[in-house]
Formats: sequence, C-alpha cells, structure tokens
Amino acid sequence: MTERNSFFTTLENEALICGRCGCCRSSCPVYKIIGWESAAPRGKISLAKEAFAKGDKSALSDEFVKRVAQCTLCGACASECATCIDTRSLWLELRKRIAGLGKQPAAYDAIRETLLANKNISNFENDERLEWAEDLDEPEVVEPRAGAEVGYFVGCVSSFFPQAAQIPLDMVEILTEAEVDFTTMGADEWCCGFPLISTGFQAEADQFIKHNVEKIKEMDIHTLITGCASCYHVWKHDYQEELGDYQLEILHNTEYLARLVKEGRLELNELEEVVAYHDPCDLGRNSGIYEAPREIIAAIPGVKMVELYHNRADSLCCGGGGNLQSVDAELAEQIAQLRVEEVNASGATILVSACQQCEQMLSTAVRKAELPVRVMDISQLVLEAL
Ligand code: SF4
Ligand code: SF4
Repeated sequence: MTERNSFFTTLENEALICGRCGCCRSSCPVYKIIGWESAAPRGKISLAKEAFAKGDKSALSDEFVKRVAQCTLCGACASECATCIDTRSLWLELRKRIAGLGKQPAAYDAIRETLLANKNISNFENDERLEWAEDLDEPEVVEPRAGAEVGYFVGCVSSFFPQAAQIPLDMVEILTEAEVDFTTMGADEWCCGFPLISTGFQAEADQFIKHNVEKIKEMDIHTLITGCASCYHVWKHDYQEELGDYQLEILHNTEYLARLVKEGRLELNELEEVVAYHDPCDLGRNSGIYEAPREIIAAIPGVKMVELYHNRADSLCCGGGGNLQSVDAELAEQIAQLRVEEVNASGATILVSACQQCEQMLSTAVRKAELPVRVMDISQLVLEAL
C-alpha cells in the first residue's frame, strides 16, 4: 500500500469515476471477513452509482444500507484506490444521504438521541465528565480554568467508560511530572461530533463543533491535546472552518508526549519489554501521524520495538471504527481478531496503541485469544517508564 493523495468532489462524480478495478478490495477488513462483493468498497460504490448517479432508488435497499454501515471508516480502501477516490469521504457522504432519506439504521438514531440529550456518547449527564478524576490524589488539578498553557480534550470514552479512564489518569500524572500548565474543559467539553458525522448527522455535529470552539476561545486555550484518534482527526479536519483565524495548535497526546521527551521534561527509565505499536486508523493513515508514537517508544531504554505485519499507512483496523460496533459487534470483534493474529506473530509482550477505542477492541481480542500480551495506551507505557 502506498500513501497517496485522494480526492472527493461529489458522490455522483466519484461513483462514476470508479473503474471497478477492485484494487480496494484486498485491503478492506470488512471484505476480508464477509467476502461478498456487496460488502466490498467496489460493490458499495456500484450500488451508490445506481442509487444516486443513475437515480435508481430501488438500489437503496435495506441490504445496501446495512453494508454501508458495515464499514469502520478505516480509509484503507482510499489508500488503494486506483483512481484516487477519497472513499472515506465517500462513505461519510453516503451515510449523510441515507440519513437525509431517513433510511439510517435504528442504532444510529439511538446514538443521535443520546448525544443530543447528554452531549456525550454515554448515558451519563455531561456534568459528570470529570468523575474519572476522583481517583487522582488531587482531583482539583483538572478543574477547568482559563489561560492554561495546554487544554486537555479528554474525549467521551475516556471520560465516561471505566475501561478507558486509566488514560486520562495516566496523562494527568505525566503532565504533572513534566510540570505542564494544563487544564480540562470539564462539563463544557461536549462530544467532538465524530459519532454524529459518522452516522450522517452533520447538522447536529455542527452544533457540537460550534460549542466546543466557543468554549476553547472563552478559555483562551491555544494548544489543545487529545488522546482519542477520532477526536484528533475531527479537530484537525472538521473544526477548521469554525476556528477561522483563531490560533489553536491541535496535537495528539503522542505528539505532545514526544515533544516533552525531546525537551527533556520526561526522564524515561529502562523497561525490558518487546513493544509493538498499533497505528490507529484516524491517527495514522487518516491523519499522517506515524513517527511521534514510535519516537516515544524508541526513547525508552531497554525496549525492543517490533512492527506488526501491517503498519503505518498499511495498518489494519482494530474493528472499532465507524460506529461498526453499534450495528454489528460480532463483525467488529472478528476484525480485531485478524489484528491480534499479527500481534501474536510479532512476539510482542506489550501492544501499545494511541486510541482508547483500539485499546478496548484489542484488549478484548487478546484476552479471548489467551495471548500473554499486555495491551495498553501509550500514556500507560510512558508512565511505567517514569
Ligand atoms: S473504509 Fe475500511 S472498512 Fe470501510 S470500505 Fe474502506 S477499507 Fe473497508
Ligand atoms: S480501487 Fe477505486 S476505482 Fe478501483 S474499484 Fe475500488 S473504488 Fe473503484
């Protein structure tokens, strides 16, 4: 697989440009599992062409809608497309069109309702966003305040789901150790909007984007860090118009931690481990961040770093992207299992990722496969080395 520039104009144009070569099929994790043409990128584009470019509404069957939802938005097909179609944008546009026609899966309606009611993807009220911090020795360090050097956008999953709460706890310890002047947005942090964008509800997502940008400006934050690959991708790509001229440096935690290591603000001690890094799709292939996490791992004395068979732009999805779990949890797990086979072959004792969703998917898959491998976020690895 090569990194290349891909383009998206309109759904109709791109569907007509597709030459039906099928180069996109071999990289698609969904097609690898299902094996049917209707589940392959090429098959879905063919049906999109019939439905939207040729106006044959009978092509918009329930089966087609299901196939469009059975996609992790990993972007592997875009990297392979022989005619440089930005297929990831095409899938998003397709979901938007389907939602516009009211034909979206019921699970997407549930996601939308939860977000509109709670401003986050959990069933908890947004006032409880900082509950995870109760496990800190000094929870008050995360209380929102204006003018801090760095704003930490924690993300919904790490804020509300106990399995992922270790990530912000570890990040706070690391930031404190490095004497970083940081803050969080507390209850003023709303979901980044990605679950709405990826289910086709762009207008609703725009409300979330507007709110978060307003709060960032009010808090006078000019460097924003986040540990969620999808939050990062959305802030980098979908927030720019709303941000306008406002100067905001947006960094993934891996980029910021790599900076702290380079500046000598974190002293990393020896760890005798074999570490493999899983590139999250929204951080790696879809945002181009490959080196920062590897620089951090390489800076830990004693660590032997190994690459998974599919890595960097060629990385294989964990199965947890694109809201796939909400419509087909079994398929998501099967994709994670494919990745875990590569982990097993790598000889790693630790599998590191840089996204709470990947960590959850891969932890479960590693446990089910009974592998003697610890799965952790990069913040946990750094903390272990401090
Ligand atoms: S984005 Fe990923 S899962 Fe979706 S069609 Fe492309 S390769 Fe398959
Ligand atoms: S690689 Fe591109 S042009 Fe070829 S079938 Fe897939 S989407 Fe169409």
